[in-house]
Amino acid sequence: MQSVDVAIIGGGMVGLTLAAALADTELRVAVIEGQLPAPELAPLPDLRVSALSRASERILRRTGAWPGIEARRLSPYSKMEVWEQDSFASIQFDAERLAQPNLGYIVENRVIQLALLDRVNQLSNVTLLAPERCKNIAFGESEAWLSMESGKNLTAKLVVGADGANSWVRHQLDIPLTHWDYGHSAIVANIRCDEAHDQTARQIFRPQGPLAFLPLAESNLCSIVWSVQPEEAELLCGLSDEEFNKSLTAASDHRLGLCKVDGERQTFPLKMRYARDFVRDRVALVGDAAHTIHPLAGQGVNLGLLDAASLAQELKALWHHEQDIGKKANLRHYERWRKAEAAKMITAMQAFRDVFDGSNPAKKLVRDLGMLIADKAPGVKDEFMRRALGLSGELPELAKY
Ligand SMILES: Cc1cc2nc3c(=O)[nH]c(=O)nc-3n(C[C@H](O)[C@H](O)[C@H](O)COP(=O)(O)OP(=O)(O)OC[C@H]3O[C@@H](n4cnc5c(N)ncnc54)[C@H](O)[C@@H]3O)c2cc1C
Repeated sequence: MQSVDVAIIGGGMVGLTLAAALADTELRVAVIEGQLPAPELAPLPDLRVSALSRASERILRRTGAWPGIEARRLSPYSKMEVWEQDSFASIQFDAERLAQPNLGYIVENRVIQLALLDRVNQLSNVTLLAPERCKNIAFGESEAWLSMESGKNLTAKLVVGADGANSWVRHQLDIPLTHWDYGHSAIVANIRCDEAHDQTARQIFRPQGPLAFLPLAESNLCSIVWSVQPEEAELLCGLSDEEFNKSLTAASDHRLGLCKVDGERQTFPLKMRYARDFVRDRVALVGDAAHTIHPLAGQGVNLGLLDAASLAQELKALWHHEQDIGKKANLRHYERWRKAEAAKMITAMQAFRDVFDGSNPAKKLVRDLGMLIADKAPGVKDEFMRRALGLSGELPELAKY
């Protein structure tokens, strides 16, 4: 029976960030991951990518994962353009005008995970158990017992559920979930465009849902996240490449010329999830295990990395003061902090969705006028950008300037 202080179930981007953020502590950490990612990258980027905010960049730099990301593949973007389809209004954001080196990076999820794995494998206080899954969990007064599918057993003062949207840990504890269907599925694909993307992230609000073009390292290659009703997603995924290209080019208002899909298309159903409890005695949830949001503002993993950095900070402080790191009362500050930040993000995503929902001409006119005003009002734009860069709200030390 191995004994650790923190057992992290799920070695995805968020779980590994937590482990890396606990480097240089006396805490003994185990990460249990069901499936390790393939190490070799193909020339065509993976379909799952994330737009990383400045706050996430800082966390990944300070936890030592950034060099591994830079050594593989990342695409900085320096402009952002948001408009409504067939409309006269748009909002433009420019890193130079905001005195920023860029507005963020588009990075494949697997690249982030591989870079974090490199880092975690260097840490003497972290043990990686992979591929491995937990079979059972039981709780005592001062520790949790975990039994693995391989037959191994583990005790931990704290178990962290970092095991994604359908969290096994959350299910084992019967933690209630507030959830609703966004009524959208997201189609993701790699797209070659006639026009160069000019390191600009583009978001088009359409009556059926938002469509994002995220610029990749090649100047004409973008990753799309195209949110539509599930029936339409099925229809679009069933089209031939040629028919799909026509639909996509029209949906993009032809801004990047002809768009051609390269490789496969995948669809993800979109759901809001918000766990009622982020902590219980001996358990804490982070990342998608605690909350999922609409990808329209690309903030899901950014929120998760902030959870990881915040929890690491709380655990270090508790350890320093010789407090029990698994006691619910001691984890309540983490819970209040991160529930408040997740709730703000969920509300903002819902507001976006409601404002841009439907094609009523009067509502559209109000929206477009609002966009025109917002584009000319630097205060509004700056605040929007601070949020997008992840620099608003209560930040953990790892994400601060
Ligand atoms: C279409 C789409 C686009 C998105 N775009 C963005 C974006 O641009 N920016 C952004 O910030 N966010 C984005 N997101 C959200 C982002 O992908 C998620 O928030 C992020 O992947 C969550 O990371 P995680 O580590 O919490 O969970 P996951 O990535 O789901 O990782 C969980 C890990 O746990 C492991 N695991 C699960 N169960 C077990 C178990 N029982 N035992 C052991 N291991 C287990 C899994 O193998 C996995 O490695 C997007 C989401 C979607 C659907």
